[in-house]
Amino acid sequence: MNLQPIPCAAGQGPLEKILQDKTLFPVYQPIVTLEKSLVYAHEALIRGPRATPLHTPDALFRAADAEHLRFELEHAALSTILTNWGARSAPGRLFVNISATALLRMFQRWGTEHLVRLVSQRGVRPRELVLEITEHERVPDMDALSSAVTAIRSTGVSLALDDFGDGRSSLRLWSQLKPEIVKIDRYFIHELSSQGDKLKTVQALQQIASIFGSALVAEGIETAADLRVLRDLGIAYGQGYFLGYPEPDPKPLVDRAALRVLGESQVAVFPESSRVASSGLISSLDITQAPTVSSDACNDAVARIFLEHTALHALAVLEGHKPVGIINRASFMNAYSRLYYREVWGRKSCAMHTNLAPRIVERDHNIDELVGILTSQDQRYLTEGFIVTENGRYLGLGTGDQLVRSVTETRIEAARHANPLTFLPGNIPISQHIERLLKKQLQFVACYADLNHFKPYNDYYGYWRGDEMIRLMARVAMEHCDTQRDFLGHVGGDDFIVLFQSQDWRLRCERLVAQFNHCARELFDENARAAGGIQAEDRHGVPRFFPCTTVSVGAVAIDGHLYTKAEEVANLAALAKHDAKAGGLGLFLRPA
Ligand code: C2E
Ligand code: MG
Ligand code: MG
Repeated sequence: MNLQPIPCAAGQGPLEKILQDKTLFPVYQPIVTLEKSLVYAHEALIRGPRATPLHTPDALFRAADAEHLRFELEHAALSTILTNWGARSAPGRLFVNISATALLRMFQRWGTEHLVRLVSQRGVRPRELVLEITEHERVPDMDALSSAVTAIRSTGVSLALDDFGDGRSSLRLWSQLKPEIVKIDRYFIHELSSQGDKLKTVQALQQIASIFGSALVAEGIETAADLRVLRDLGIAYGQGYFLGYPEPDPKPLVDRAALRVLGESQVAVFPESSRVASSGLISSLDITQAPTVSSDACNDAVARIFLEHTALHALAVLEGHKPVGIINRASFMNAYSRLYYREVWGRKSCAMHTNLAPRIVERDHNIDELVGILTSQDQRYLTEGFIVTENGRYLGLGTGDQLVRSVTETRIEAARHANPLTFLPGNIPISQHIERLLKKQLQFVACYADLNHFKPYNDYYGYWRGDEMIRLMARVAMEHCDTQRDFLGHVGGDDFIVLFQSQDWRLRCERLVAQFNHCARELFDENARAAGGIQAEDRHGVPRFFPCTTVSVGAVAIDGHLYTKAEEVANLAALAKHDAKAGGLGLFLRPA
């Protein structure tokens, strides 16, 4: 588009000209209640003259800064918007942006009377108006802003915090101002439906909002998928291009495509957080409080400690608070108990028995690093254990079996959230999703899939190729799910659960079974494929012929009115699987 420059007089800036000619105008973007699908309010966004370089707010504010007219622009925008809105008698509330600095300046200059006059002279009721505080990060005096907000609120005008979470916003401000409304920055909304971390952040903001008594607006909703997730999360209000673009006239109704999404009875499949799929911090690391010796201690002193503390497997050697070595009890006491040892070596330094490269573990070690210790060449930690530190300072000792135990426990806990092999959601998210379906009393189909003759395959070709088979199942099942509607979880081993909301679930299952059975054959060696299976030992160690691996899926149609517990649904699906396997069937639908 060809942009026309603003025609200014000599010495006049373009913004000054715009303010003088009063050529600012607003556009309105709807804010929608996600539960009832109604237009709740409109946010007014200021615009400069069309087809000029100063059409967008960004350009206007840049020019205002250059011409030192920032406050004047903000005040003119507010006044223009109120005039325009007041002349329309449109239903719903009006959200207007104002920076914290301008709000404070207006209040300090003229008190609240000015705002009340500005509003009521234009036929707008104070209760209709919500001031969105922008650029709150620049608040120089929080207490002053807090008193201004209290005074403004007493006139009936409501307050909102804009763009919360854009990196500069402060939780303290939220807590101090207790705004009626907080608008979540669109960064957290964009692709929320596929990014588990964003979902968790929005859920955390919901908790904070309930503490401070604020309602949330999700900004920047651009897709049906993100809108579904927000609706299911129970976010009160939404705004974004998918619900309606900013336009010169306020719109009384929500866009048709958005209405369709908001009216759907199905629940959205929430994304899983990437964090649980990878490693996390160790959940608990047992620490033994144990005495220490300094690096210049003699062998007699070390022996005294070992004799006094009979359960001590090792002793940490410190320089100040910093561990520098470890003495193994068994090897030390072996030497010490030899004839004449005490007489000859008793007063000599213990350095001769000290391992100067001890295993040191920071208390909040990452689990991967601990696994590194377990699998390293140097296995001395099994006998002498390791030293636990906090910020490099000695805390206590740990033993090899304590380490193995806490790594295993952390791994098992993580696998309940996401399977480490397939990264699919594990038992906890599976149960949570079933509960969401039941809570909404929906009709859905719960399927339990299990591989046939997988164990002989795993025994025959080894666990590495066994893992390939499991991953194949995950991949094929994923391909036949509608990621927005159908939830795929990995219970463990070769057991999977699919919770279908797709109407064509039967066709999807049949295709899944056919595709898996075909691809699974490809994972066998050529001669096994030719023979149709392998010769392997059964559970009793007796050699037998096993056909190539296939999948059985047991399905059960669930009426959400009839159940309240996820466990009941999982059990029914497991029974259906049992029937499918017993009947040698690919897909079996069990009457509920
Ligand atoms: P804001 O208050 O956060 O306004 C939302 C901005 O996001 C608007 O840009 C809007 O057009 C845009 N937007 C809305 N839905 C979507 C979406 O789905 N996706 C994307 N990518 N963007 C979306 P706009 O109109 O350019 O305004 C930019 C900023 O300028 C506003 O951010 C606000 O901080 C400021 N502003 C606008 N009008 C006024 C005003 O009258 N007074 C003051 N003080 N500031 C204003
Ligand atoms: Mg805004
Ligand atoms: Mg905003």
